[in-house]
Amino acid sequence: MNYDDKNIFAKILRGEIPTKTVYEDEYALAFPDINPQAPVHILVIPKGRYVSAADFGATASPEEITGFYRAVSHVAKQLGVEDSGYRIICNIGPDSQQMVPHFHVHILGGHKMGHVLAPSD
Ligand code: 5GP
Repeated sequence: MNYDDKNIFAKILRGEIPTKTVYEDEYALAFPDINPQAPVHILVIPKGRYVSAADFGATASPEEITGFYRAVSHVAKQLGVEDSGYRIICNIGPDSQQMVPHFHVHILGGHKMGHVLAPSD
């Protein structure tokens, strides 16, 4: 899948859509999810043009990968959920219902969550 420069997170990175910046460095930008699913729900995105976690893992430079995941850990600590625990999720492709085709990690926390691997009823 080719990267679409018109996706909503590309527009946020270019400053065309306003958001509240939680954290930013040369590798990553973090901002609140517009439709939070937990008391803490922050999205962390790389600055580079990557469609998904699969694309990022396969094609980003080691510096970008390290910088991005360091930013995710930093944001979780900054949000105060490092000790209480949190969940990181990234949806990849249609079966996961990935909605925005720019790689992003969801950081979810601030309350007790059900076990993600529990079988559905
Ligand atoms: P996905 O399903 O692709 O993993 O998640 C995309 C996430 O982006 C969703 O949780 C959705 O609420 C969030 N989102 C969609 N549009 C916007 C937006 O314009 N601003 C922000 N802050 N979040 C958005």
